[in-house]
Amino acid sequence: MPGGNTRTTVYAKPHPIYVKSGIGARVVDVDGLTYLDLDNNFTALIHGHGFTPIAEALREQAVFGTSFGAATEFEVELAELLCERVPYFEHVRFMNTGTEAVMNAVKAARALTGRYRIAKFEGAYHGSYDHVQVSLDSSPSNWGEGKPRPVAYDVGTPPSALSETVVLPFNDEDGCRAILDVDKTELAAILIDPLPSRLGLIPADPGFLRFLRDYTSDNGMLLISDEVLSFRLGAEGAISQSDVEADLCAFGKIIGGGMPIGAVAGPREFMAAFDPSKGKPAVSQAGTFSANPMSLRAGLEAMRAMTPQRFEEINELGAYSRAQLSACLSDTGVEGQVVGAGSLFKLHFKCGSLRNYRDTYPADRARQRLTRLVAFARDNGILLPASGLGCLSTVMTQSDIDEFVDVLRNGLRIIAKEES
Ligand code: PMP
Repeated sequence: MPGGNTRTTVYAKPHPIYVKSGIGARVVDVDGLTYLDLDNNFTALIHGHGFTPIAEALREQAVFGTSFGAATEFEVELAELLCERVPYFEHVRFMNTGTEAVMNAVKAARALTGRYRIAKFEGAYHGSYDHVQVSLDSSPSNWGEGKPRPVAYDVGTPPSALSETVVLPFNDEDGCRAILDVDKTELAAILIDPLPSRLGLIPADPGFLRFLRDYTSDNGMLLISDEVLSFRLGAEGAISQSDVEADLCAFGKIIGGGMPIGAVAGPREFMAAFDPSKGKPAVSQAGTFSANPMSLRAGLEAMRAMTPQRFEEINELGAYSRAQLSACLSDTGVEGQVVGAGSLFKLHFKCGSLRNYRDTYPADRARQRLTRLVAFARDNGILLPASGLGCLSTVMTQSDIDEFVDVLRNGLRIIAKEES
């Protein structure tokens, strides 16, 4: 394998951690070392590892059959559960990844509007489909006169993906309006994650969401909410926590209970783009493993266990962890702040107001501090993604958080000492 493993996101020098097993809130690597898991497979696992209802459902389904060239009742059950919880969901379609979910939502928006360009936010991650990767890692050298412009992410991105993607500044109504007004008759959709991870895990202002809702409705485009990660904020998802509803929602991760999944949902009117009952649909979403019963059964168990009360509990523990981490920064005098919501947190080695990608863009020293801290955490039994964005699982307790925070406090003390 190039680099010695498969996912670029888990690659680390000199080599990634190779995990042997996961038990509750912890994972054990092939050398027998145990880590408290604040990564939870990049936020996909909301119940940690080996959660009994999921393990039992998977064990049973492995015997009954892992995938079929036919539908199963489980897709009906999970679709019903999701539609009961999220106010504007009427129809759902399942796929295998968040990337596919976003891609299918974009394709549906194109089909429904007859337009093919889309708008997304500078720095926002939406999976690995060419158009939505545009300006994912735009850097100061690309910023020019201030207005975001499309920058390719992967080498070899077709120039057409750049001209078909309009890049917007996050939380900046005037800046967005100025850009959108030029292209509004050509745009199929605006794609937004209400709590975008790579954009710094800072929330979209409620007023900004309202502006996007009104602008898209007034100009014949769809509003797509990418909640692949942020769906873990609450039983009704992310954008529904404001007074705004999207036209289509792309989500995944936690709704698969640790198995591969993606989904698109929304009102019938828009989901009709996928409807094959009246002939070839506008978007022929398929996928050999889409809606496979392993993913659906694991997802059903994960979501059934996530009652509103469970969301409240994990979110309270999330607030506790953010408060404790913030206290660590002030105790140690290291410049920085902790952001996030629900069961998610992210460390920024930067002070001041963070409202958009450029505010959160780290200076070299901030980058080095984070790399140093994540490595220190790993060497002291804490698994944290390189981005510093961590999440909790329902099997974690306050003492797990205290253990994690103590390790980070020690790491920050060392950083403060080295820099003084
Ligand atoms: N959108 C967002 C907001 C995500 O966080 C992710 C995954 N981190 C994706 C899309 C892509 O999902 P997947 O990795 O399942 O393809």
